[in-house]
Amino acid sequence: MRQIQMVDLQAQYQRIKRDIDAGIQEVIESAAFVKGPKVAEFQTHLEQYTGAKHVIPVGNGTDALQIALMALGMKPGDEVITPTFTFIATAEVVALLGLKPVVVDVNWETMNMDTEAVRRAITPKTKAIVPVHLFGQCAEMDKLLALAKEHHLYVIEDACQAIGATYTFPDGITKQAGTMGDIGCTSFFPSKNLGCYGDGGAIFTNDDELAALMRAIANHGMVIRYHHDRVGVNSRLDSIQAAVLDAKLPHLNEYIAARQKAATYYDRAFAGCEYILIPGRQNHSSHVFHQYTLRVTGVNRDALREGLAARGIPSMVYYPIPLHQQPAYIDPRYKKGDFPVAEKLAGCVLSLPMHTELDNEQLAYITSSVLELCRK
Ligand SMILES: *Cc1c(COP(=O)(O)O)cnc(C)c1O
Repeated sequence: MRQIQMVDLQAQYQRIKRDIDAGIQEVIESAAFVKGPKVAEFQTHLEQYTGAKHVIPVGNGTDALQIALMALGMKPGDEVITPTFTFIATAEVVALLGLKPVVVDVNWETMNMDTEAVRRAITPKTKAIVPVHLFGQCAEMDKLLALAKEHHLYVIEDACQAIGATYTFPDGITKQAGTMGDIGCTSFFPSKNLGCYGDGGAIFTNDDELAALMRAIANHGMVIRYHHDRVGVNSRLDSIQAAVLDAKLPHLNEYIAARQKAATYYDRAFAGCEYILIPGRQNHSSHVFHQYTLRVTGVNRDALREGLAARGIPSMVYYPIPLHQQPAYIDPRYKKGDFPVAEKLAGCVLSLPMHTELDNEQLAYITSSVLELCRK
């Protein structure tokens, strides 16, 4: 059996090596390393894939979120609602811009932002909601968008883990993660579902003005060279990364299908196990399984994790500490027990190996090991 990894990028590379190598070589020979034609080509292909009117390639997913917030003209102290159970970047940029992160609890089944908790967190200072499509399935977007509309709030989707996931609205219209709110953000970090070989990210919007503004912000706040209308940042996807992404994008749907196949294997194997809850599914959303995350109840999660490690099976805890308990984000308004679901999840989630190269032999070994260790 091949060695089991959380993410197997080497094996994935071997299958598309020719296209990747040719793309990188082309960039090197053209010497157009920054803002080269490869970036524009990838942008067009990603617009076609996602259906977003505008894709703005940037340096990474965190920058994408920051630039999105910068474009919305918020004032220091304005409140932005995010889930407390997510990767830190979602709230980090809010804090960095002098805005106030207001966190809410998540749903026990889907682990995504709880819409009713968002409703309760809205104040006259609230300006935006940042739903995170955690682990690869969309948050409850029809209800969140309706709530945002009712209160005149912006919606910025953190789709860093969910590129390619789809959501079907009550009227039958299906949209992709990142293209439903005012702005969507994604990351091309190597281990993400569409990963490059370094850092990368992109912003999605259907709004022409916002698109122009965010393009300018990402480029030092300039539209005309050396004329700076506003304070910006320097954040761009470099051409070599765009070449890697352009070679991988045509395979994204196969990659998603491979992840879903592995998830189905896991789901079936664990269905009857009383100590394990499989990932709950969000109605109306597909799941692209950036992570396959169990909730371990009745057995010790960390002991299970050690037992798996001893058998050569890696696993990870995403995320061990909710935002409201992170030292950098401690806020006197929040105390232990305020976000019971997030706190419970932090103590019981366990993400299993999930990538495009898992074979049945590996899946059988992983699932039988988990089940044996639970029974002990
Ligand atoms: C990966 C990730 C980010 C940040 O992306 P980077 O490209 O690493 O900056 C933001 N939010 C979520 C939910 C992520 O998973």
